[in-house]
Amino acid sequence: MTDDDDLSTRAPVVERPWELAGEADGFQRLWTPHRMVYLQGEDKPADAEAGEQCPFCRAPSRSDEDGLIVARGELAYVVMNLYPYNTGHVMVCPYRHVSLYTELTPDETIEVATLTQTAMQVIQEISGAQGFNIGMNQGSAGGAGIAAHLHQHVVPRWGGDANFLPIVGQTKALPELLSDTRRRLAEAWPA
Ligand SMILES: [Zn+2]
Repeated sequence: MTDDDDLSTRAPVVERPWELAGEADGFQRLWTPHRMVYLQGEDKPADAEAGEQCPFCRAPSRSDEDGLIVARGELAYVVMNLYPYNTGHVMVCPYRHVSLYTELTPDETIEVATLTQTAMQVIQEISGAQGFNIGMNQGSAGGAGIAAHLHQHVVPRWGGDANFLPIVGQTKALPELLSDTRRRLAEAWPA
């Protein structure tokens, strides 16, 4: 372990949430490794345009570490959700700015599916997940926080993982930092 890995000596880095990929919801996050860092939903893009306004268009232009990207395919990529429902919650997104599953080309459809399967396998391998929720919320009426750019959620589940905090506190406790989870997933991702 290097000094960089030692959470007790590493100062928390507070990033601007609107620069990372994520879908804000009603929950606050309590990042338990630092005990002090809260993140509130405030990065919802103002419009439906592609480009700088869209966190899913912007993420691939950053480094893997800065953009919290786990793996890059030819037509789609895998990124940590800045607002995870659980530790290891990733999203599979086409690079192309499309809003509906029916707008994907056949090749994009295959790669989104393949990356989803690999994400499940890697998450299972490093975390022993006991179940998964996978899905795409489409359109604002379908519950999509960022409706303009399609993204498939891959959420690992463990028996008893939903505790009282989300119910009484509108807060989820995350026992591992996103950057650490990203690194473990990326290292376990098949070449
Ligand atoms: Zn986009």
